[in-house]
Amino acid sequence: MLKGKVALVTGSTSGIGLGIAHALARDGATVVLNGLGNPDEIETIRAQLAAETGTEVTFVGADLSRADAVAELIARVEADHGRLDVLVNNAGVQHVSPIEDFPPEKWDLIIALNLTAAFHTIRLAVPGMKKRGWGRIINVASAHALVASPFKSAYVASKHGILGLTKTVALELAEHGVTANAICPGYVMTPLVQKQIPDTAKARGITEEEVVRDVLLASQATKRFVEVDELGALAAFLCSDGAASITGIALPVDGGWTAH
Ligand code: NAD
Repeated sequence: MLKGKVALVTGSTSGIGLGIAHALARDGATVVLNGLGNPDEIETIRAQLAAETGTEVTFVGADLSRADAVAELIARVEADHGRLDVLVNNAGVQHVSPIEDFPPEKWDLIIALNLTAAFHTIRLAVPGMKKRGWGRIINVASAHALVASPFKSAYVASKHGILGLTKTVALELAEHGVTANAICPGYVMTPLVQKQIPDTAKARGITEEEVVRDVLLASQATKRFVEVDELGALAAFLCSDGAASITGIALPVDGGWTAH
């Protein structure tokens, strides 16, 4: 279905991004992985994905909290593959802290990576998409693009921001065959979530088990974590012809969280 198309998934060395990369590679796209991490482990992930799917998989390790690195990443993808058809803005970080203790440098990092990096990838990828008359922009936002939780000021601000960016870009590109949508997952058990459990326990004065039961899964009506494969399947659908009229929306995959 995506044969001949080139997809970049930012932050795809683990978690949700890796799941989306798998789904797009299974559909035949050439996939460019990005993210931070141990080079040997990343090479294993890259090689496994290429072997499993029989498609070309490459890796570019840019730190997307830096605007110049984002520009280098997009230029490199277009130089190596001649095109960029599917852009998945997924790289993201979290920090959990009451607002009065929230470190300003954490605010700056979260806004830079979760929001500003997507502005740069989109503005740089759009000219090629417009020229070819086809493109798919998928922003991995969060249920926190729609509702807030305490102690996550920067994250919630960045995710509400990326939803606004998604809607604006969708309107600008609607007549060019390019769609832009935001996937809004509930909690998925990835390193990003594992890391915040101790801080949330501290911020709320409860145990880590209580964090999982009473905080993370409290609003998720299904009482289970969302699976990475469920998000990959949705991303692949958004890239299909059947999704050509779906643009400018937030798609919650949150086990009923935002239905409350
Ligand atoms: P993760 O920690 O498993 O993966 C994050 C990815 O981003 C990794 O590949 C990491 O290397 C990369 N990354 C981190 N800093 C980077 C940087 N400066 N430059 C480039 N890459 C960088 O996390 P995840 O849970 O898979 O999160 C992926 C996205 O999904 C994030 O945007 C997150 O906000 C969003 N999300 C996650 C959940 C959840 O419950 N896990 C829920 C909703 C939304």
